[in-house]
Amino acid sequence: MHHPSALDLEKTFRSHAPGYWADLGVSPEDWNSATWQLKNRITSLKQLEEHLALTPDERNGVLLSGTKLAMAITPHFFNLIDRENPDCPIRRQIIPRVEETLTSPYEMADPCGEDAHMPVPGLVHRYPDRVLFLVTDRCASYCRYCTRSRVVSGVGEQELDTDFEAAFRYLEQHEEVRDVLLSGGDPLLFSDGKLEKILERLRRIPHLEFLRIGSRVPIFLPQRITPQLCAMLKKFHPLFMSVHVNHPRELTFEVKEALGRLADAGIPLGNQSVLLRGVNDDLAVMKTLVHKLLMCRVRPYYLYQLDLIQGSSHLEVPVQEGIRLIEGLRGHTTGYAIPQYVIDAPGGGGKVPVNPDYVLQRTPERTLIRNFEGRTFEYPEPSSVEASVLDY
Ligand code: SF4
Repeated sequence: MHHPSALDLEKTFRSHAPGYWADLGVSPEDWNSATWQLKNRITSLKQLEEHLALTPDERNGVLLSGTKLAMAITPHFFNLIDRENPDCPIRRQIIPRVEETLTSPYEMADPCGEDAHMPVPGLVHRYPDRVLFLVTDRCASYCRYCTRSRVVSGVGEQELDTDFEAAFRYLEQHEEVRDVLLSGGDPLLFSDGKLEKILERLRRIPHLEFLRIGSRVPIFLPQRITPQLCAMLKKFHPLFMSVHVNHPRELTFEVKEALGRLADAGIPLGNQSVLLRGVNDDLAVMKTLVHKLLMCRVRPYYLYQLDLIQGSSHLEVPVQEGIRLIEGLRGHTTGYAIPQYVIDAPGGGGKVPVNPDYVLQRTPERTLIRNFEGRTFEYPEPSSVEASVLDY
């Protein structure tokens, strides 16, 4: 008889509602309302301790980290936490730990060098033909390793002061920009009306071919992905969305439904994971994650090496481990399931792909390659074939 392992359980799309909130008698109507979820987020030590016995490192983390990045956890996401397990992969992502107060000499407040590339407050123009538009500093919940924690959540020293009019004017004048990524913070925290106005304004700029939204709302707050929101977004195609899932448990029944509504609205979905120690630095977990993503109609897009963000060393995974994970996927499972592993070059060099080495030797005559099983093959270069024919 097959006994389901812990990972088998992670592969199923479960509903965790109303979980910890069952005793409080929350109505299904409230539970399914994004407004209720946001209003009832866990933001204080007292609320957290009502549900969980914290470890000393977590307790001190909550007490000490509040001036850097606020804590906020939606009831929906909080329910994914394993109460018994202090090393729970959901806990590590969302509950502050004392290690956040430690900084190493390599770490930076702005690891991707975004601030240096802002021609207008809130608009990052780092690549030739595309821009990053930071429309808000708020998220449904806060990831402890957030690369933009210097501005996100509004408690840090720096403030995001997006100048929308100046940004629209900049985009109108810069015809080389063909792609706008709305991010922040999380654009899907805006009301339908507010988001629609921004998208309408962007769509009036003829050279903008392609729009994208980066959001973790479908994961933190699937209740926000209403049919009305999807119907509105549908008017602005081509519109893609990048979501952010790190562990298979985050793909719950409700999240799958929410992602399905977005996909039905014709929005191509990609996932950006961050490689995190104790969360997804394990081949079996990563495989389960990418398989579940495909079942949710989401293409695993990027696997990010953790940016050198201050106070994140407890979540760092060596690059060699990341390469090993990709190697364990490539050839062993569906090509669509394999994300591109990237390092966002510290200081602002942009994303650089990092891959296992499959090319063993390259000479003008041949390329020596190995496959996923380690067998080697030789591919003769076309010019050398031609040369040998001529010799003949
Ligand atoms: S959802 Fe994105 S922007 Fe918001 S805290 Fe998480 S990583 Fe940062």
